[in-house]
Amino acid sequence: MQKNELEEIRCCRCGKLLAKGRAEVMEFKCPRCGAFTLVRAKHPSAHLPVSQGSATHAL
Ligand SMILES: [Zn+2]
Repeated sequence: MQKNELEEIRCCRCGKLLAKGRAEVMEFKCPRCGAFTLVRAKHPSAHLPVSQGSATHAL
């Protein structure tokens, strides 16, 4: 069991390891190829909250 699961942030183009950790939104510039990699926190649960309001039976 891992106590802290650090996410590896790798370059989207060349795969170079840019950083480790967790971020909500960060942008890294790869020193090797110069590509920008945008990192966004992934939400494990894909269940989106239903927007409140008048729930119409559209289906
Ligand atoms: Zn790169």
